[in-house]
Amino acid sequence: MTYEVGDFMQTPASFGYERATSVDHAIALLEQLGSEARLVAGGHSLLPMMKLRLARPEHLIDINDLVGDLSFIRVEGDELRIGAMTRHAELLASAVAGEHFRIFHDAERVIADPIVRNRGTIGGSLCQADPSEDLSAVFAALRAEIVIQSASGSRSVSARDFHVGPYETAVGDAEMLTEIRVPLRPNLGSAYRKVERRAGDWAVAAAGACVSLDGDTIADVGIGLTAVGAAHFCAPEAEDSLRGQAATDEAIDAAGALAAEHSNPGTDQRGPADYKRHLAGELTKRALRSAIARARGEEG
Ligand SMILES: Cc1cc2nc3c(=O)[nH]c(=O)nc-3n(C[C@H](O)[C@H](O)[C@H](O)COP(=O)(O)OP(=O)(O)OC[C@H]3O[C@@H](n4cnc5c(N)ncnc54)[C@H](O)[C@@H]3O)c2cc1C
Repeated sequence: MTYEVGDFMQTPASFGYERATSVDHAIALLEQLGSEARLVAGGHSLLPMMKLRLARPEHLIDINDLVGDLSFIRVEGDELRIGAMTRHAELLASAVAGEHFRIFHDAERVIADPIVRNRGTIGGSLCQADPSEDLSAVFAALRAEIVIQSASGSRSVSARDFHVGPYETAVGDAEMLTEIRVPLRPNLGSAYRKVERRAGDWAVAAAGACVSLDGDTIADVGIGLTAVGAAHFCAPEAEDSLRGQAATDEAIDAAGALAAEHSNPGTDQRGPADYKRHLAGELTKRALRSAIARARGEEG
């Protein structure tokens, strides 16, 4: 058998290229170019998929000139707001994000590598909707709201309803994600724990927890899971078991068991399903312990 040099090259199919100058312009281009057009932000997910011909958009609409409008991390009223074009590295470096939600720094430290984090965006990560995506679990734990804009205005979708399936989101044709809003709450601690095969890899399994304490009682709790087939990236049965309970080791262990029981991992190159289910429980417990310690003002 003979091979040509081209047999081994990964090149995308041809496509048209537009550069949006504003959010309204990007949406107008999406409307004008139709359903075969795709936004490109950091390009770290879309471009590899195009090279492998797993995605063949006819047009790319580059939104990197929108950083002035869509790259921000700030507190407004009782919310932390994060713009869609904020890069992973900016979230990792953000003092205001870390001050309110340590979970962001926990997670960003273990997402990919500095090259991907310097370019990849928060909006692009959520819109890629990979079933192993870390921030999907983080925003599910935080019960964030995701703002989607179209020509007719903006609407807000709960992070838990944003993913409608693997690689599918609530973002419709001629719509784009513009920002994520996270409610601020008193006496809150949050944490993220991940097992990966090697530094910078996708999760074998990971869990995030966000706990509000009233004295030593768990007033509210959010638990996010990724890579373990948890519906909507969350663990509602484990959350229900904790709400209103004293923050004890027994309660945490019971919640971990429920998280494991209700996850639905598959066997793949990252490990067997039983191992991932075990990790779902163990990482949920570790994230909860750390979040509770942080809510108490201890080092978690
Ligand atoms: C080597 C490597 C390792 C990685 N490791 C991890 C990891 O450990 N954990 C993890 O969670 N992720 C990981 N990733 C994924 C990485 O974090 C994401 O690929 C990347 O950040 C996606 O963001 P992006 O800006 O590059 O999106 P793009 O590739 O530009 O876009 C992705 C998708 O989102 C759409 N999109 C982008 N922005 C918007 C918007 N504002 N509104 C609507 N649609 C939009 C695009 O049309 C496209 O369909 C890894 C990626 C690589 C290449």
